[in-house]
Amino acid sequence: MKTDASPPAPTAAPRRDPVARRVREVPASGIRRFFDIINTMQDVISLGVGEPDFVTPLHIRQAGIRSLQEGHTSYTSNFGSLELRRAIARQLEGLYGVSYDPQDEIIVTAGVSEALDLAVRATVDPGDEVIVPEPSYVSYAPCVVFAGGVPVMVPTTADQGFAITARQVAASITPRTKAVLLGYPNNPTGTAVSRQELAAIVRLAVEHDLLLYSDEIYARLVYDDWEHTCVAALPGARERTVLLNGCSKSYAMTGWRIGYAAAPGEILEAMMKVHQYGLLCAPTMSQFAAIEAIERGEAAVEAMVEEYARRRAMFVDGLNRLGLACARPQGAFYAFPSITATGLTSEAFAERLLYEERVAVVPGSAFGPSGEGHVRMCYATAYEKLEEALGRIGHFLEGVTRGQGR
Ligand code: PLP
Repeated sequence: MKTDASPPAPTAAPRRDPVARRVREVPASGIRRFFDIINTMQDVISLGVGEPDFVTPLHIRQAGIRSLQEGHTSYTSNFGSLELRRAIARQLEGLYGVSYDPQDEIIVTAGVSEALDLAVRATVDPGDEVIVPEPSYVSYAPCVVFAGGVPVMVPTTADQGFAITARQVAASITPRTKAVLLGYPNNPTGTAVSRQELAAIVRLAVEHDLLLYSDEIYARLVYDDWEHTCVAALPGARERTVLLNGCSKSYAMTGWRIGYAAAPGEILEAMMKVHQYGLLCAPTMSQFAAIEAIERGEAAVEAMVEEYARRRAMFVDGLNRLGLACARPQGAFYAFPSITATGLTSEAFAERLLYEERVAVVPGSAFGPSGEGHVRMCYATAYEKLEEALGRIGHFLEGVTRGQGR
């Protein structure tokens, strides 16, 4: 007999957390919160975002456009186009004397971000430790955690110029250590590490059979005759190093999403597997633009570096005059002054400076506990805006001093 009673509602099982524990345990980036606030404000001078203020040089943009007009709209090889890999290999050989086979030792990725993620995921087993200097780029530790590894943070201080030493690395090595993640010139400090110290770290890696991931995204942005040391070019390093670099910073191409990794074939093949199933290939149009950048972008790089150097000199001197002690960093485009004289935490300093003077900076604590007492200020911003920012920071500091009753 037919009834019109509706079927009983299913009994709900107790709710499980939909988010994986290893993701839940990683805090959201301390930088993002500030950008959300900035987006609601007007007349802000942003020294917050870590990217060039230049647009991509015209001839590079045109190469991307031309590739579309010519109909290059399909996938490339999973490794990236061979022409681009050959250009990368030539550049690495020419700049640092390190040689990679474009056929199977170079992979083109969606930014250094993806290259780093691939390197870690392809080589780290659950519980493996990765030594990471701190303060450091916000992605490093989460990247290791997402791969099931354990980041072992090594704090560095302003007194040591925020440059990690081989002695510190040695003290952090355990039987579970799989790799050391180096990122110099460094974000957020601008510090570079001497060739001698890097060579000593490589020797440790050889002695303990460790991998080295070397994020050299700021390699081209160095000043005062500082010569960048490519870690892979150091004696004994090549066979255990994943060299990471890309177009974002040196060619002002952050939005194009082109990075790459160069590594011995066995490691690269493993990275390719992860990349193949996750991403297929980096954007084709961007790969065409990257060939143009790498083959004919040198003049543009030199012009941009010259301008960053001019801003850096003026801005860092200005900060020191205002009483915010700041070393002249060797590379990247960040100043990382001490703000301890204000008595404020880096978070309070950044928040008040934003609300009271409309200057956006990033609290040093966003880059790890050892970044506390500092803020990151990106000087990839127009010279005049940097001058204006210094004026506003000076005004802010007067207010803080008055508030302290000094
Ligand atoms: N590595 C460092 C040290 C960075 O500062 C950044 C971006 O700020 C990246 C990697 C990410 O670069 P990409 O745009 O190539 O993904």
